Amino acid sequence: MKILISDAFDPSLPDRLKTFGQVTDDKSQVAEADVVLIRSKTKVNKEYIDNAPNLKLVIRGGVGLDNVDLEYAKEKGIVVHNTPAASSVAVAELAFALMIAVPNHIVKGHNGMAKGEWLKKECKRTELMGKTLGLIGIGRIASEVAKRAAAFGMKVIAFDKYVEKSDIAEMMSFDDMLSKADYISMHVPFTPETKDLISKESIAKMKDGVVIVNTGRGKCVNEADLVEALNSGKVANYATDVWFSDPPAADCPILTAPNTLMTPHIGASSKENLLRIGDIVVDIITNFNK
Ligand code: NAD
Repeated sequence: MKILISDAFDPSLPDRLKTFGQVTDDKSQVAEADVVLIRSKTKVNKEYIDNAPNLKLVIRGGVGLDNVDLEYAKEKGIVVHNTPAASSVAVAELAFALMIAVPNHIVKGHNGMAKGEWLKKECKRTELMGKTLGLIGIGRIASEVAKRAAAFGMKVIAFDKYVEKSDIAEMMSFDDMLSKADYISMHVPFTPETKDLISKESIAKMKDGVVIVNTGRGKCVNEADLVEALNSGKVANYATDVWFSDPPAADCPILTAPNTLMTPHIGASSKENLLRIGDIVVDIITNFNK
């Protein structure tokens, strides 16, 4: 069996996988690969699959499978697995880190200090305690964010098209959630339904000065509409880990918009999560070989 590690995994993984056969990270060997391990960078589309005639198993270390052509893989008899449960805490901690960093002006204060500027007056802080957090989606990651928000004294409300009840968030309609939230944190997959969920229309229903945190998917946001709202101040801040493409195009309007806080899609990239993902990858290949 040849295993191609196509994206970034824990450095211990190649050694752990050697018991199953040959392991390589040389992408030019895709034609001989029986198993391909991907995260978000590699796109297993029709062309990729056509170039991999031996491929039997694709493992996506992470949650979303939007970088795999699932229908075509099925047609070709290729089994596709992801590791959905592993990343919840890692992503939730990043979402919360972004949500704390915004009202505390961590980046602005730091950058000022590094330049010898004392921005005490410019860094007027506000607290999370007593604020309302609106979650879009109440799945695994959002539930971890909700627990952290509750510990900070926030009121947690949520909209999820497919979940009516939750122990940790007050469920309500999308419009009600939008109108009540001081902070909105996005945790839905990218699907035709969630494309442009944040748009001119939904932004108009939000509180003035709302803060939006996105560790879900970049394409759930209409970039032009969001930038307009950032420029007008309707949306006070947009903190995002996710993009239209990885990395974003040089002319991505978010990159130059005011009041943003940006990270390079690192939600799932904690050391601990990569180890957890590695354990699950080993289990999947072990079971596949049985
Ligand atoms: P999950 O499946 O546990 O939760 C997703 C929730 O979204 C579900 O409860 C589902 O009912 C809800 N949902 C689906 N479609 C909806 C719609 N149209 N409207 C409202 N709600 C809808 O998934 P999760 O593990 O919590 O992950 C959520 C998302 O986070 C992933 O799909 C992925 O896009 C993103 N993610 C990002 C990173 C990162 O590095 N930033 C890492 C992992 C996952």
